Amino acid sequence: MLQIYNSLTKQKEEFKPITPGKVTLYACGVTTYDFCHMGNARTLIAFDMVVRYLRYRGFDVKYVRNITDVDDKIIKRVNENREEYYAFVQRYIDIMHEDLKELGAIMPDEEPRATQFMPQIIYLIQRLFEKGYAYVGGNGDVFYDVRHFKNYGKLSCCDLDKMRSGARVETSENKKDPLDFVLWKLAKPNEPSWESPWGKGRPGWHIECSAMSMGTLGETIDIHGGGADLLFPHHENEIAQSESASSKPFVKTWMHAGYLQTNKTKMSKSSDNFFTIRDVLAYFSGEVARYFLLSGHYRSPLNYSEDALKQADQSLESLYIALRDITPTFMPSNTVFEKYFMEAMNDDFNTPQAFSVLFDIAHEINRLRDADMKTAQAHAALLKRLGGVLGLLQQEPSAFLQKTEGVSAGDIDKLIQERNQARAQKDWATADKIRDQLSTQGIVLEDKDGHTVWRKK
Ligand SMILES: [Zn+2]
Repeated sequence: MLQIYNSLTKQKEEFKPITPGKVTLYACGVTTYDFCHMGNARTLIAFDMVVRYLRYRGFDVKYVRNITDVDDKIIKRVNENREEYYAFVQRYIDIMHEDLKELGAIMPDEEPRATQFMPQIIYLIQRLFEKGYAYVGGNGDVFYDVRHFKNYGKLSCCDLDKMRSGARVETSENKKDPLDFVLWKLAKPNEPSWESPWGKGRPGWHIECSAMSMGTLGETIDIHGGGADLLFPHHENEIAQSESASSKPFVKTWMHAGYLQTNKTKMSKSSDNFFTIRDVLAYFSGEVARYFLLSGHYRSPLNYSEDALKQADQSLESLYIALRDITPTFMPSNTVFEKYFMEAMNDDFNTPQAFSVLFDIAHEINRLRDADMKTAQAHAALLKRLGGVLGLLQQEPSAFLQKTEGVSAGDIDKLIQERNQARAQKDWATADKIRDQLSTQGIVLEDKDGHTVWRKK
């Protein structure tokens, strides 16, 4: 039984999709105005892991992740860069796709962009007018009337008056209530704009996701999620708009990924603890970064540090060492490992626990390697299969283990040959010298069965 923590009910619940066997999942994507940072990566990889596991469990998942391609931040950057709007946006979409590919992410089935959903967004605002939930404010912008929706606050809060005076709520004489939010903004000079019944303008951020979620997956979906920072106001407002327009529940299960932190503070653009995915990929492989991002439970805060990435590298290395020089064959029958792996993942996607099962399998392979190769090979197949559920361990072990900095595989092979010659001539001093030289370059040699293999320290 798969249990998922639902941010709406604030408890773990048995997951039962609306249509048996099928899952509709919408993950809030990024706003494309800069390189993605590791905090974005954490959320994106968390939902990637969720989709992969649901598919492994046999669900037919339709996975949608949107792109916010019209936004104040984009407009500001485009004007600063004096760049053509869509060329700018496309450039950052391409960069995001490249980065996510490096992190081993699967592509969503659909990737709607706000600018391609204008008719649906305008239609949704019209429905809100018809039902009395929208009004034109003092400045001509269209607002959502929060006081009209009796369930407002059900996701994020209980005390609306406290929220009204909170820092995250912008007061304005143009709207009736501080919590009211914009559905349609009138165009200012040098802004992209679209025709609408309320004048030329562009949509507010929240209405975009309501329109794209309902437009691609239907009025009620199984899972909708994003980073924890989207809970309020973004997701609260999505619920208000969608449910008042459709008179149906918008989402069954709300999921939120925890923050990525550096030294216990949230990684964000406004502070100097900001790392892009590319910063990390300059020093670590995409698979190591992915392992690190999944090494904590998706809802818990995860602390980013170079040491944590090095640790991820070492952990992956020991899993790949178990898979080295062994041909995975058929899956073993009746092992407890797959059961334990599923128990971990069924418990609200407990990846740290699932990783510990992978290490148990690696240990079993190493134990069986000399005594019972057939069973070892079957366990190798299992390790690769379960690693694959998390998007890991799909490289050739030698390719992962031979990745080094500053010293080429050819150089190493040459030195190994020289060392072997020295050993054949019983010139132990030279042999040891070569081993030590490689060791200072981070290369470990292992002699076994008459030949020498190497790996990164
Ligand atoms: Zn969204």
